[in-house]
Amino acid sequence: MKPMTLKILEHQRLSDDAYLLRLEKPEWTWKPGQLVGVTGKKAQDQRDYSIASGPEDDSLDIVYRLIPHGAVTPYLVNLVEEEALQVTGPYGRFTLRDLARPMLFCATGTGIAPCRSYLRSFPELKLTLLHGVRYQKDLYFRDEFEGRCQYLPFCSREDLDGSSGRITDALKEMELPEGAQAYLCGANEMIYEAEEILNHRGISHKDIFREPYYYRAYDN
Ligand SMILES: Cc1cc2nc3c(=O)[nH]c(=O)nc-3n(C[C@H](O)[C@H](O)[C@H](O)COP(=O)(O)OP(=O)(O)OC[C@H]3O[C@@H](n4cnc5c(N)ncnc54)[C@H](O)[C@@H]3O)c2cc1C
Repeated sequence: MKPMTLKILEHQRLSDDAYLLRLEKPEWTWKPGQLVGVTGKKAQDQRDYSIASGPEDDSLDIVYRLIPHGAVTPYLVNLVEEEALQVTGPYGRFTLRDLARPMLFCATGTGIAPCRSYLRSFPELKLTLLHGVRYQKDLYFRDEFEGRCQYLPFCSREDLDGSSGRITDALKEMELPEGAQAYLCGANEMIYEAEEILNHRGISHKDIFREPYYYRAYDN
């Protein structure tokens, strides 16, 4: 696949360190859940980003967290509208398997991106979304999801409407949708732990799909 140059339509700050980049649509299309490779300042610096918009939307969106010592995101953060970005794709198999079955989507941070693409493409999905972040201000897209699915936010570092905690604690106790398939996206630690809990609770490996973003988290 050859890299394409796509113009930036909009670059929006979503929270202290998360950003939404809306790019012009490429000449190819994608399936909800797929990703693109993005080239940084140097050609050898390539990183993957889930596509956060649906193929029927009028832009190709990505959501990224700025990692100050990273190779690519400090380059992305300085880009402005009308500038261009090198993108390759689409890749990936974190696509929807069975639209008819209830979906349990667990995301940490920017791992919510593919879920946004799913719901924008298939508003009728029977979706339960668990979004784990550090602070309330990191609950970007809350307005988009609330009321359109069962939306369960979690903040690990502050109280949220009287409750706080982690996705994995909730998974141990909550009522799981009957016959659900689980999609896990973001920090590898969450994915690993969530899969173990879901297995114990009766969701087998073949009904669990994973998209790990990173293994050793940068934190601040
Ligand atoms: C399949 C796939 C899809 C991905 N999709 C997205 C996406 O949609 N949005 C997104 O923000 N990232 C996504 N990532 C991660 C992304 O590819 C980069 O690794 C990330 O943006 C950091 O790039 P960087 O070059 O600035 O830092 P790097 O030099 O790659 O990383 C520096 C350090 O930060 C850690 N790190 C990377 N990402 C995070 C994070 N989000 N939170 C905490 N620590 C982190 C790394 O493990 C590493 O230790 C995805 C990764 C994969 C494998």
